[in-house]
Amino acid sequence: MGIPRLWEMIKSKKEEFQETLGVPLSDLSGKTLAIDVSGWIVELQSQNHKAPNMHIRNLFFRTLGLLNAGVNLVAVFDGTAPDSKRATLIKRNKGGAGNVDRQQLRDKSKECAEVFKCLGVCCLTSSGEGEALCAFLEQKGKVDGCITSDSDYFCYGGKNVYRNLRKEKMFVVDSYSSVHSDYTHDDFIVFALMIGNDCDMKGTEGIGWKKTDEMIQHLKQLKVPSVLKRVLTWRDNQKLNAIDNKIENKPKKDSHCKHCDHPGTVVSHKSKGCTECDTSSDCNRNSNIRCDCPWHVVKYLEEDYKTELSVRRKALEKPDFPNSEVINEFRNLDKTIPKYLESGSIDAKAVIDCMARFGYTEDVTISSVIHSVILQDLWKKTDETNQMFSPIRIIRECTENRVKCYLVEWDKTGTCFINQRYKNHWTSSDSYEIKVELQLFKSKYPEIVKHFEDQKQSKDKKAPPKKPTKGKRNKDHDSVGQSTSAPPKKSLLESFNKVEKK
Ligand SMILES: [Zn+2]
Ligand SMILES: [Zn+2]
Ligand SMILES: [Zn+2]
Repeated sequence: MGIPRLWEMIKSKKEEFQETLGVPLSDLSGKTLAIDVSGWIVELQSQNHKAPNMHIRNLFFRTLGLLNAGVNLVAVFDGTAPDSKRATLIKRNKGGAGNVDRQQLRDKSKECAEVFKCLGVCCLTSSGEGEALCAFLEQKGKVDGCITSDSDYFCYGGKNVYRNLRKEKMFVVDSYSSVHSDYTHDDFIVFALMIGNDCDMKGTEGIGWKKTDEMIQHLKQLKVPSVLKRVLTWRDNQKLNAIDNKIENKPKKDSHCKHCDHPGTVVSHKSKGCTECDTSSDCNRNSNIRCDCPWHVVKYLEEDYKTELSVRRKALEKPDFPNSEVINEFRNLDKTIPKYLESGSIDAKAVIDCMARFGYTEDVTISSVIHSVILQDLWKKTDETNQMFSPIRIIRECTENRVKCYLVEWDKTGTCFINQRYKNHWTSSDSYEIKVELQLFKSKYPEIVKHFEDQKQSKDKKAPPKKPTKGKRNKDHDSVGQSTSAPPKKSLLESFNKVEKK
């Protein structure tokens, strides 16, 4: 997918592209990220999963992982493939194993959109490639980056990529950014022209990513204002033709002094001095004064232009170089910004029903959904609580993945559909325990935290100072309930019921 060797180049410059492996999703909280959905579908397909609807399961858990971490999402779908890309697609489909054809991709995308919508994730369809719209949204400041494995993203002008989303102990992702890199959007397009891309699989024969990178860096050193513009002039560039000509017809080198590399000999310089070194006897060993004999003039030209000219020569062997379709595709100009990028809330009932249609039992879905509904509510900056669960009290402080958390008891005796419909799924108790990040919970429910802290303090005062109560663990919350009494439950339930009526 994308530019075959671009990741190799980026990975060879870890610092320049700020490679960070295994970033926990919690580090991305507050960001808005675009998801290149077809990337997810293809990725899973190529892993040869035998189970049906793996793309749905995968999407469900990945999306919840991101939402739980407080990441805002925009799911972006492919539109119609650009004509130039059709050839690649045909080729890829013939390749067989693990690849998805466009129709299959469309069907799966539709299914994914159903799940995204139930989860309250904003869905957009690109006019062309999904990653093109993702990059455009980033360029316009609508998103902070994209979750994609497709290196094309940089060629479309995107700068921040999150790839290899995977579950280790928790969900993590590898992040890359071109923000502090020398590579501009146009430089990436040059890379695509040389190395090949989805529009033009072959690229330039005999030119690898290292050579391309070397050329780009070299032209930058020569202070060429735009490497892409320079490359576009290659075919008719008279100046380069002339230089090429001169190099091919390099004059013979007259005798030079091996000490200063200026015309003459060691012996003649020793007795009469050297004009270039401006001496009347002897000369400067290792002089860095440039010699202007005909041979040296061409040699210096060669040093300055060798890399460019050798790449140019190979590129111009291709009659259609530079391929304007590739450039137009990556220039990313014909996109319109959608007016609204608003995300909704998780519709728990819809999610459970939707997942059931794809063969996932309620047991799989329900506890994940509840967890996410509760967390999503905590991430909302406003006072609005359209939640189905209200916190009753904090049971205890704990840590998860080195993050301070509270184990909180949530009311589930209300009349919401989940409690009605899944009464039998629950254990006998009337509440639901869930771990939430300490700071997050505090920002939304400071009064419950205050109550908990007050209780803890008064308990600490009563307790003999030598024995800290910290290590005490109580899994049975009924007994814990006796030790830390709940804050005024009535007001919480009232607000809960208010929501239910809505
Ligand atoms: Zn000399
Ligand atoms: Zn000299
Ligand atoms: Zn010379």
